[in-house]
Amino acid sequence: MAGIETRRACAMNSGNTAGAAEGGSRAATGEGQPALPRIALLGTGGTIAAVASDATQLHDYTVGATTDELLAAVPQLRALAEVGGEQLANVDSRDIDNALLLKIARRVDALLGQPDVDGIVITHGTDTLEETAYFLNLVLKSAKPVVLAGAMRPASALSADGPLNLYNAFLVATCAAAHGKGVLVMMNDRIGAARFVTKAATTVPDAFRAFEQGNLGEVAVGSVHFFTAPLCRHTVDSEFSLAAIGELPHVDILYDHQGAGLHQYRAAISAGARGIVIAGCGNGSLSPAARAGAEEAARHGVAVVRSSRVGQGVVTTSADDALLGTVAANSLNPHKARILLMLALGRSHDAGELQRCFDQY
Ligand code: ASP
Repeated sequence: MAGIETRRACAMNSGNTAGAAEGGSRAATGEGQPALPRIALLGTGGTIAAVASDATQLHDYTVGATTDELLAAVPQLRALAEVGGEQLANVDSRDIDNALLLKIARRVDALLGQPDVDGIVITHGTDTLEETAYFLNLVLKSAKPVVLAGAMRPASALSADGPLNLYNAFLVATCAAAHGKGVLVMMNDRIGAARFVTKAATTVPDAFRAFEQGNLGEVAVGSVHFFTAPLCRHTVDSEFSLAAIGELPHVDILYDHQGAGLHQYRAAISAGARGIVIAGCGNGSLSPAARAGAEEAARHGVAVVRSSRVGQGVVTTSADDALLGTVAANSLNPHKARILLMLALGRSHDAGELQRCFDQY
C-alpha cells in the first residue's frame, strides 16, 4: 500500500525516530497490519478551503469548504492515517483575532493530551498562518507532530496546491522524525519551522521561505526528509502555557518610515496597548517619531520591541535599548514579535526579562 511504503521512506530518510513510541509507528493490529496513526484534522479556513467562480480565478474566492470536503477531496489520506476531522472555524486568516487564536490553541492542546491522537494537521489561511503556527510553537506542551498547511490557490483553481500540501502535511504528521521539532508548516513540498518560516510573496505557490535559517526538510515525491531541527525554545521546552493565560494583552505593531508621526504611538498608548512592536528601519533603527514614541510608551509602562521592516536578518541589541527601555526582536519579524511579546508580557514587564525571551524563543 502506498501509505505503508511512504512511512517506510520516512523512517529510512529521517535519521531520527525519536518520539516514535508516542505516536507514528504504533503496534500492529490483530491481522498483522500496522495500525494507522490517528491524526486530527482541524479546519480553520483559508484559501485551501476556498472556491472561486472558475478555474482561472485565483483570487476573489469564497472561503467555506469544510474539513469533510477537504478530506473527501483527498481520499488518499485514509491510507496514511485514521482521520478525525473537526471544524474550528472557517474564515479568511485575516479574520483571526486573539480570541480565536486562543480557541484554536486550546483545542489543539486538548487533543494533543489525548492518548488516541498521534498528531495534528491544521488547515489555515496563509496570510497569518505563521502567527498561529508560532503561537502554537510557544504554548503547546507536546512533542507530537503539529503541522499547519494552507494553499496559495483556491481548491477550484488550475494546479490547485492545497490537496498535495494537505497530503504532504499528513505524511509529515505521521512521520516519527517530526516529533519534537516544534510546530511545522507544510507548503510547496517544504517543511518549515514555525519559528522561522514566513510568507514572503503574495501569490506564488512557493510563498513561504525561511531566508537565513532554511527549511527543516522537504517531502520529495512522497518521502519525508528532515535535514535539520530548530534550536530556539519551543513546545515542551517553552515556559509559556495556555493554562496561565486568561486573555492576551493588547499589542500593536507600528510601521516606521521617513516622516513618521508620533500620533500613532499616542493612539496605541491611549487605546490601552500593553506593548508596541515597531517595524523599524534597517537594524531596528528608530525615526525621531518612533524614538519619541518609545519614550512616551516607557513613561506609560508600555513595553516596546524593535523589530524590522526589512524582512530578513537579526535586530541586534543597542546601547539605546538601555536608554529607551526597548527590546531587540532578534530575528522575529514584527508579527511574530507581537505573538512573543503578548506571551512574554503575561509573565513580566521588565525589559531585561523581555529581552531574555526574545533571545531564547
Ligand atoms: N486570504 C487567504 C487567507 O485566509 C490567503 C490564503 O489562504 O492563501 O489567509
